[in-house]
Formats: sequence, structure tokens, C-alpha cells
Amino acid sequence: MKSKVLLIYTGGTIGMMQDPQTGQLKPFDFKHLTQQIPELNKFDVELSAVSFEKPIDSSDMQPIIWVEIVEIIKKNYSKVDGFVILHGSDTMSYTASALSFMLENLNKPVILTGSQLPIGTIRTDGKENLITAIEIAAAKEKGKPIVSEVCIYFEYQLYRGNRTHKFNAEHFQAFQSPNYPVLVEAGVHLKYNLSALKKTDTKNLIVHTSLNPNIVILKLFPGITQNVVDSILNLANINAVILETFGSGNASTKKAFVDSIKKAVDRGIVILNVTQCNAGAVEQGKYETSAMLEKIGVIGGGDMTTEAAVAKLMYVLGTTNEKKKIVKLLKSDLRGEVSL
Ligand code: ASP
Repeated sequence: MKSKVLLIYTGGTIGMMQDPQTGQLKPFDFKHLTQQIPELNKFDVELSAVSFEKPIDSSDMQPIIWVEIVEIIKKNYSKVDGFVILHGSDTMSYTASALSFMLENLNKPVILTGSQLPIGTIRTDGKENLITAIEIAAAKEKGKPIVSEVCIYFEYQLYRGNRTHKFNAEHFQAFQSPNYPVLVEAGVHLKYNLSALKKTDTKNLIVHTSLNPNIVILKLFPGITQNVVDSILNLANINAVILETFGSGNASTKKAFVDSIKKAVDRGIVILNVTQCNAGAVEQGKYETSAMLEKIGVIGGGDMTTEAAVAKLMYVLGTTNEKKKIVKLLKSDLRGEVSL
């Protein structure tokens, strides 16, 4: 039996064309994409496709569109073996993280891919990305999908989506997964890293569509004024702050700064500490400069990326407003997004 894969085209460079008038890259019609890759017709996979009516540059991505994507997945979940989502690379790590939380007990591959050069250009990276993403989404072992999580496939590597970060706007290798191993290396053969892949289970898919976007990122830097810190911590209607700290979770020990953070925690604002470093983890208490954060109730985000932290907070705050539950969920590994 041929595997069935549904392509969901949201937009991004992969399907863009140059506007002859302005010279700018703009999302194009999905038909253009299939015309450009005749190889798709040779696949031993039953392909179907849905396209956003108005494809977007992923810089226009919004939580409401994540809901639209998971609704498409839910509607087609029993009909296909896997999903490939074509998406701009700019916010792909955010979308992959969000989908991972919104799709609980996922047991089929959901692979996001895109490209740095449009599919119609001669040196495009889009063809290989799309073709291999489809191959992985269709791959089964003893009738079961080999991959059963939300991933990003880019430039010969498959990553756990909520571990990724777009680190390069120039190279074809645009993504990194600094704190979790690569799941598949695509060379002559597809080498599956079976011990790193999530195990399939028999639970039924639960789709979560309630997200709370009332969060903010406060990135520290030497010289940040108390005025800026206070303005952010006192923003109206904010429920959570991602504190991007130095190194292994360190921040200034200045009394005014620590007092402001403490006041925010006491007011019920959730503060999640993630590192500005590309790799490694927050370890509150390792240094004096992070011990006070632990003491006043800041939650250590471990080795979570900022992208995963954004998605996890939106998901957790959308699921419950009970403080104890929120803290418990944030400190747990929900979808393989953090090493505990
Ligand atoms: N600006 C584009 C987007 O994210 C870049 C890309 O597709 O890689 O939609």
C-alpha cells in the first residue's frame, strides 16, 4: 500500500516569485510549486495538497494561523500517513514548537520544510528539501510511521522542531538544534537516529487550540536601564515574561533589578528564564547571579530555546490559569522540548 502524505502550503520563499515591477519576493500560487517539481509525480507516495488561500511570508505568522494548521491536520489525521508543511524559514522554529504543543499524542510525522532560494531558481535548495521531507513523512517500519513528531527538515538534516533555531540567513544550512541530536541524516541513505526519535504510542491525538499570546521577551544586556526593565514588567495584560539571561541563567544582582523581578512574580506574572547562549542550559543556583532568581520564584527553562519557550508559554497559559499547574507544566518536559 502506498503511503499517503498531505502537503500543506502556507507560503515562504519556497513558493515565492519575483514581482516583475518591484523586484521583491512575494508568495505565489501553489500550482507554481508542483509545476516546478515534476519529480513529485514520480513518487511512490499518494500526494495530496491544501494551500492557504493567501500564502504568507512567515514573518506574518500568527497563533490564529497555527490553529488553522492544526485544524487541517486534525481533519486529515485518519486519512493520511504523514504531513509536510511548506513554510517560510524565518519563523519556522516558532511554528514547529507551537504545533508540537498543540498536537498532543501525535503519532504521525509532521515535517516542516521550506528553502532559502525560491523553487523556480536554478540553485534552489527547495527541491531536495521538499522531496526528502515527503520521503521521511511517508516512511514506515512494520506498518508504523518511523517519525511520529513535529520536525523540521532542512539541508540534509531532520531536527526535532521544538529544539531548533534559525541561525543563518545566508547558508542553505539555516537551522541548528544545539541541545538535541539530529534525527535523520540524509546522505546516500536516510540514516534514522532511532534512539533520539520519539517513540510511537497508542494514545489518541488531542488537539489544543487555545493559546494565550500575552507574553513578552525581556532580553538582558549590560547597561539595560531600570526604566526599560520596569516598563516591560509592568506592561498591561501581560501574563508571562521570558527573561533571556546571560550564560547559564545569570542576571544582574543589582537590588533595584531583583526587587522589580520579585514584585512581578508576587503580582502573579510567570517569569521563565532562558539563556541567550545558542547552546547549553539555564542552571539557576550555579552562580550567585542566578541563585537569587531561583529564590524569588523565577522558573528555570533549562536548555529550552526561546522559540520553544514562547510556544510553551502560549500553550500552557492557554490551557490553565492555575498558578501551581502552570509552574508544574513549565517545569515538565511536555514534548521533548527540554532535557530534564
Ligand atoms: N521571509 C521568508 C519567510 O520566512 C524566508 C523564507 O521562506 O525562508 O517566509
